[in-house]
Amino acid sequence: MRITGLRLHPVAIADGPLRSSYGLHAPYALRTIVELTSTDGLTGISETYGGDGPLQALEAMRDRIVGMDPFQLTRLWMDLSGEAAKESAAQNAVVAGGRSQTYLVPGENPLDRHARTYAAIEIACLDLIGKALNKPLCDVVGGRARDAVPFSAYLFYKHAGGGGLGDDQREDEYGEGLDPLAMVRQAKQMIDKYGFREIKLKGGVLDPEIEIDTIRALRQEFGPSYPLRIDPNCAWSIQTSVYVGRSLKEELSGGGYLEDPTATIAGMAEVRKRLREEGIDMPMASNVAVTCFAQVVEAEKADAVQVVLSDPHYWGGVRAQQRLADLCETLNLGVSMHSNNHLGVSLMAMTHAAASAPHVNYACDTHYPWQSGIDEVVAGGRIPFVDGCVRIPDKPGLGVDLDYDQLARGTERYNKLDYRKRDDEAEMRKRVDPSWKRVLPRW
Ligand SMILES: [Mg+2]
Repeated sequence: MRITGLRLHPVAIADGPLRSSYGLHAPYALRTIVELTSTDGLTGISETYGGDGPLQALEAMRDRIVGMDPFQLTRLWMDLSGEAAKESAAQNAVVAGGRSQTYLVPGENPLDRHARTYAAIEIACLDLIGKALNKPLCDVVGGRARDAVPFSAYLFYKHAGGGGLGDDQREDEYGEGLDPLAMVRQAKQMIDKYGFREIKLKGGVLDPEIEIDTIRALRQEFGPSYPLRIDPNCAWSIQTSVYVGRSLKEELSGGGYLEDPTATIAGMAEVRKRLREEGIDMPMASNVAVTCFAQVVEAEKADAVQVVLSDPHYWGGVRAQQRLADLCETLNLGVSMHSNNHLGVSLMAMTHAAASAPHVNYACDTHYPWQSGIDEVVAGGRIPFVDGCVRIPDKPGLGVDLDYDQLARGTERYNKLDYRKRDDEAEMRKRVDPSWKRVLPRW
C-alpha cells in the first residue's frame, strides 16, 4: 500500500467564552482534519491543531508523504526528528528569547513542532493500516490494555455564552460560571450527562481563595470518591502554590493532583519540596513545564512532577504515547492526558492512544463537552460516553468516518474568520478587559 494523496481541511468549531490564565477562548477554535488516500482505495484520517502554522507544516510534508508506505512510520519519525535536531539551536533561541514555553498555548511550542506534524500523519497512517487489516487502531499497535477509556469532567470558569458569532451562536448549555456555586452546578450537569468519575477545574482565573472555595465546594458535593485536580497554568507564585497546596491537602489527595501551579521545573520542584517539608505528599502534574521526553527525565530528577500529562497530538502520536507511558512507569511517575478543544476524530485518537498504553493511570482530560453536535465532523454525530468512558468501537482504524457536508460547513466557518491563530490574550482584551495582560505569576 502507498499513500496517493494528502488532503487538509481547516475547520472552525464554536467554542464558549471559557477562561484560563492564558485569557479567554475565542468564539471559534481552529482545527485541521487530515486525510490520506491510498492505493488500496482507503482513506485514513486524523485531527490536529488549527490555523496557518500547523497547516503550513503539514503542507510542507506533502512531497515526503505522497508515495510513502504508511507502514514505514519509523523512518518518517527519524527524518522529522532529525530535521528538528538540526533546527534546535534556532528553536532554543526562540524559546529562550522571553516567550518561553510557559507562555505558549499548547500546540505552539517550536520544540515539539515536528512531533505535532508527525503525530497528525502517524495517526492517519495507523487509521489507514487499521482499515486495511480490518482491526481497530489500538490493536494495530500491539493491542489494548482497556476496552474503554475514562475521561474527566473538565470544568471552566466562563462568561455567559455558548460560542459562535451572529446567527451562528450555540446554545449556552452550562451558563455563566464565575463562583463556587455555579461551578458545582456545571459539574453536576456535566456528570449527569456524561457520567465522569474524576473532576478537573481549570484555575488561575479568579482570586486563589475563590478557587480554593470552588474545590472545597466540589468535594462537599461529590465526596472523596471523585478525585479532584486543579490546573491554574502557572498563574501562581511559589508561595501561593504552597498556600493552595496546603489549603487543599485533603481535597487534592486520593487520586487528585495539583497541575502546573507555577512556572518551570525549578519552580515546581520548589513547591513540591516546601509541601513535603510540611508533610504534604501531593502529586504535582504538568503539561507546561514538561512537554518533551528530555523534560520528563529532568523533572523526575528534580522531583518537580509526579504525573505527566501525555497527549498524542504533541508528544508524537500513538506510539510515542506508549513510549511515554512506559518511561513514566519506569520512573515511577503517573500518566494522565492533556486536551485542547477538539472534535470526535481527536477524541477517538486519544481513546485509542490511552487504551494502548497500560500505564495511563488517571482519567484523561477532554474538552468534548464544550463542543456542539452542530460542529461535529464525524459521520453519525457526537461520540457517546458511557459512565464517563469512551469505548473502543468494533470498527477498523479510529472507528469513525467523516461527514463531508459537516466538514465543508466547518471549513466555511473557518474561511469567514479573520484570525488564523489562537490568541486568548487578544480575545480577553477584546471582550472582557481592554487592558488585560497575561502576567505570571498573577497571584
Ligand atoms: Mg494543564
